[in-house]
Amino acid sequence: MNEFLPFSRPSIDEATIAAVAETLRSGWITSGPKVQEFERQLSEYFGGRPVRTFNSGTCTMEIALRIAGIGHGDEVITTPISWVATANVILEVGATPVFADINPITRNIDLDKVEAAITPRTKAIIPVYLAGKPVDMDRLYKIAARHKLRVVEDAAQAIGSTWRGKPIGSFGDFVSFSFQANKNITTSEGGCLVLNNAEEAALAEKYRLQGVTRSGYDGIEVDVLGGKFNMTDIAAAIGLGQFAQLNVITTQRRKLARHYFATLGKDFEAQTGAQLPPADFENTNWHLFQIVLPERITRADFMARMKDKNIGIGYHYAPIHLFKLYRAQGFKEGMFPIAERVGRQIVSLPMFAAMNESDVERTCVAMCEVLEN
Ligand SMILES: *Cc1c(COP(=O)(O)O)cnc(C)c1O
Repeated sequence: MNEFLPFSRPSIDEATIAAVAETLRSGWITSGPKVQEFERQLSEYFGGRPVRTFNSGTCTMEIALRIAGIGHGDEVITTPISWVATANVILEVGATPVFADINPITRNIDLDKVEAAITPRTKAIIPVYLAGKPVDMDRLYKIAARHKLRVVEDAAQAIGSTWRGKPIGSFGDFVSFSFQANKNITTSEGGCLVLNNAEEAALAEKYRLQGVTRSGYDGIEVDVLGGKFNMTDIAAAIGLGQFAQLNVITTQRRKLARHYFATLGKDFEAQTGAQLPPADFENTNWHLFQIVLPERITRADFMARMKDKNIGIGYHYAPIHLFKLYRAQGFKEGMFPIAERVGRQIVSLPMFAAMNESDVERTCVAMCEVLEN
């Protein structure tokens, strides 16, 4: 039997491991020169826009909402198909989450439904680029401009993705990335926020460290409530090593995604009733390779049978509005039917840069066996 193939695994090279060891020996292990260098390189990649790093992608979005002044009485529109963090940050700042259903093909928030959900209290939109696939960015920013809304892009999965040839993050409003262990590049845990100007960047620094401003030689001042969200130099050393691999990683993922399509063939959907992801090789970084299962097999059954064949399958995501916390806010079944159907049947096949084409083939063979009987 083949060894277990997980759905995701980070690729950390020896140079990165050496850089972490060097940082550990350097005498400076919290935020310091490595964080500064990581932020500098990220900013360069994002076309010179200011970038600040944090200890998660979640707090990154929370801080963006705080900088935008969003809180009690404000509505923020987002998708029900994401990691729960996306909606939790809205509650965290005291605002009201408003969900808009997804597009069944892209599995991202449906921008028609975003427009329909806008009220006089709407202050921001948090779009999510599921599997790294951007929404229609032109349309998103047209809607935001027309209704004077802030955008906090949950680009947690989208580093390396592009729109009209430009990296996601190099344009737009706030853009938040995660470097959690499963993401395309990682710092083990961490995130970064791309901001619009120096003033916002200064606020981001305050919010990430207790609201402290350093003023003059004689001390500090605290004028807003901040938290403890800074990235360590150990994490930044991993991030620098990973960032150097970004193009290699994205290229390999695109190659693997193409191989999934080629191996499954053009009749796969008709034969099995499963639905493939959109074949977007222009913009998507292929953070995940997700299929929607036909209704005749349950997700749990599919995952268990694939595990018996030594293949790990991921689940991204359960619809957020059906979690108890959100039901308690008044959300219930039937409100977002596409999200509920897709959220019930969606699975993530193995997809990571250290995989090879025979891993893809093995997954396809196993999956077709499971779907055929
Ligand atoms: C990973 C992820 C997050 C959260 O990032 P953390 O770094 O784990 O806090 C938020 N949204 C999406 C879509 C994600 O994939």
